[in-house]
Amino acid sequence: MTEVTGQVQHDAWQRKVMPPAEQLASDLWSIPVTIPNNPLRYVNCYAFAAGAGLVLLDTGWASEESWQALTAGLAAAGAAVTDIRGVLVSHLHLDHSGLAGRIRQESGAWVAMHPAEHAAIARPDYRDAALAVRKEAEFLRSLGATAAEADEVVETEEEFAPFCSVALPDRELSDGDVADVPGWRLRAVHTPGHTPGHLCFADERARRLFAGDHILPRITPNVSVQRADPVDPLRDYLRSLDRVRPMDIGEVFPAHEWRFRGLAERAEAIATHHERRLAELLDAIERLPGATPWELAGQLTWSRPWDAYSGRMRIHAVTETAAHVHLLERRALVCSTGGPVPGYRRTPAVPAPLPEEGGRGALPRAAP
Ligand SMILES: [Zn+2]
Repeated sequence: MTEVTGQVQHDAWQRKVMPPAEQLASDLWSIPVTIPNNPLRYVNCYAFAAGAGLVLLDTGWASEESWQALTAGLAAAGAAVTDIRGVLVSHLHLDHSGLAGRIRQESGAWVAMHPAEHAAIARPDYRDAALAVRKEAEFLRSLGATAAEADEVVETEEEFAPFCSVALPDRELSDGDVADVPGWRLRAVHTPGHTPGHLCFADERARRLFAGDHILPRITPNVSVQRADPVDPLRDYLRSLDRVRPMDIGEVFPAHEWRFRGLAERAEAIATHHERRLAELLDAIERLPGATPWELAGQLTWSRPWDAYSGRMRIHAVTETAAHVHLLERRALVCSTGGPVPGYRRTPAVPAPLPEEGGRGALPRAAP
């Protein structure tokens, strides 16, 4: 069982209000920063007292409302943006990285992230909104959307623009690197899955894990095939769960929701969730041989009715379905029909060899 330790955060969640900034130790603060129009409501930024200044882990969304929440939280900790010496970014998503550029501009802080995140946000189809929108629609068509369906869910260039101006980092942090936070020993733990370069930070002396979006107490983070990395994010994610599960951690400090104890139990529960999801998807593929991820997504159980999934929510549902399809394929349970818009079907079972009878061999192996 996991145990809520961020009781104030949990109470605020249930009352549907923003939690307050909290001092968690003499040198550590949790600062909730509003995410506008998002059911997650806020990102937990962490401020570490580091020498004469502060280092911040995650920043909040690129919006004025978020900036106000961040500066108010810093003020509650007796600090100002100009005290920030460095920004650690757990991953590239805008609720974590969005204000990094503005903080750097006002304070001269360095910005650090994993090289894979740096590579992803530096790509031309991430930094150019017109190209990004076109590539995203193309990608959805390759997952089975019609041109009209793809255009309907992809953002406009204008909507995409904030993502294109995410601050490129000054520094990179790879697995095992110790972040430059004087007075602290925060070790970067590469946990790909939610994004290819997601980082958690382990504070081994105090048995804390700053978990980013890798492990959250209530929801499971989105694990999606991305157009830039058509690989196997769910396999990566499950491995990353295995990676943190045995760590000697007391309290988990996630980037959303509330702090908790029970890292191993939570990792186990999330892994089980994905195995159930894989089984449900395998059933759907059996019922609809040749179906695409776009079609299959609508066959799965979601937290709301499928018709309520529009825009980015539908994209996430489809790309997350595709991530599950890829893992089933890697496990040789399904196979692709091939072509530019592959569908999937159950891999025919390989019949057991018949006992030798009159010199006859086993049945021919079914096609892969
Ligand atoms: Zn997030």
